Amino acid sequence: MDQARHQIVIVGGGSAGLELATTLGRKLGKKKLADVILIDASRTHIWKPLLHEVAAGTLDSAEDELEYLAQARWCNFRYRLGRMTGLDRERQEVCLAPTLNEEGVEIIPERRFHYDTLVMAVGSLSNDFGIRGVKQNCLFLDTTAQAERFQRKLLDCMLKAHTQGTPIVQGQLDLAIVGAGATGVELAAQIHHVTRKLANYGLDTIDPDKHIRLHLIEAGPRILPALPERLSQAAERELVRLGVTVHVNQRVVEISKAGVITIEGKIIPAAMKVWAAGIKAPDFLKDIAGLETNRLNQLVVTQNLQTTRDARIFAIGDCAACPLDDTGKTVPPRAQAAHQEASTLARTILRQLKGLPPLDYHYRDYGSLVAMGHYSTVGNLMGGLMRSMMVSGLTARFVYLYLYKMHQAALYGWPRAILITLLRFLRRGVDPQIKLH
Ligand SMILES: Cc1cc2nc3c(=O)[nH]c(=O)nc-3n(C[C@H](O)[C@H](O)[C@H](O)COP(=O)(O)OP(=O)(O)OC[C@H]3O[C@@H](n4cnc5c(N)ncnc54)[C@H](O)[C@@H]3O)c2cc1C
Repeated sequence: MDQARHQIVIVGGGSAGLELATTLGRKLGKKKLADVILIDASRTHIWKPLLHEVAAGTLDSAEDELEYLAQARWCNFRYRLGRMTGLDRERQEVCLAPTLNEEGVEIIPERRFHYDTLVMAVGSLSNDFGIRGVKQNCLFLDTTAQAERFQRKLLDCMLKAHTQGTPIVQGQLDLAIVGAGATGVELAAQIHHVTRKLANYGLDTIDPDKHIRLHLIEAGPRILPALPERLSQAAERELVRLGVTVHVNQRVVEISKAGVITIEGKIIPAAMKVWAAGIKAPDFLKDIAGLETNRLNQLVVTQNLQTTRDARIFAIGDCAACPLDDTGKTVPPRAQAAHQEASTLARTILRQLKGLPPLDYHYRDYGSLVAMGHYSTVGNLMGGLMRSMMVSGLTARFVYLYLYKMHQAALYGWPRAILITLLRFLRRGVDPQIKLH
């Protein structure tokens, strides 16, 4: 590698980092104007908003995942496997932990990468707020591996109940989701759909209406607090129609093996518990190398996405705390923000290489959509900028899919994104509608 060439290191190949690496690879890597290196702790990428579908089994992750090595080759950047654990700002180096295989044998030793420009894009994880029993007793949807674990656990519980030879005990298939934001609501609807499908695929001793109770638990006064009230009411009506029990104003104080315990001492029994109540950036970021971080471990950045204490280091996506407006609020942790920040930062880096100043980033809220599986999709479009427009049904479903297509188009270009969509559509015609193993 030519050490004289400007080294751009991007850590985290998610919605934000992978789009950035792809754009910079195409614009700089191809003409050898800079070295673009993407580091990620995983070998493959899947768009995170699809994880609840992976968890429910309505999407096989193998169908939708992208191989970093292949993308790097096609788009002229380098991909390096490894988990970042430290930062040496003096020597401008990122430190990676050794990579172990499934048997715990080291396959890649600890190593360091020099950077001239560093972009942190390591995303976020569920925030358990230190609540007792969450780590030990809950399932999470932060990574593909966790979503796949959830899918297997659900399937195993159903298979066990189907074959156990004794009557199904009340509660053994009950599931509680803590957090009624978009993830919790979408997951509840998907699980409802999938448990009916599994019963249809031969697990017919299970009567989902009788044997499976789904609980959605929210600390605030209504579900989908980020959406207008009318939409959260519409979503709640739909969930209630499906038989989901919605608990609002229920602050959870403990999760035990048996269920969820609220501040009022109410116990909501559930065999499976899912935690989807808020996020934080990974713990290793807290005060990393003297950079400014907030209480959620996010790196505090200025309006142009530069960290406040080091102009060589940028942060984008969920791990960045970027000012939203003058009220002290920060840009929400959403896929559309990650996409917009990646686009702005790509232009900034191209400008900086020409000696031009960085660009400011301003969040544009195009609205929010919540896809309730095969039942309905609700949301608002263009909230914040113009008067927001409520959408539901097919229009909302179409717009929801379009958001994902935009991510695919940023990675592959529109012709390939359309081809992938067509292939997936055709596969759906010959494969089962849900993952059965
Ligand atoms: C189930 C679910 C549903 C969602 N639905 C929606 C939705 O409908 N709409 C919406 O706008 N948003 C949604 N979100 C939020 C959205 O997914 C995130 O805002 C978005 O993915 C953030 O992008 P990112 O690039 O910051 O992080 P991510 O996409 O999470 O990517 C982070 C990357 O960093 C890597 N990484 C992490 N730590 C390290 C490390 N130490 N070293 C190296 N690599 C590391 C990870 O492997 C990962 O590839 C959803 C999230 C979840 C979990």
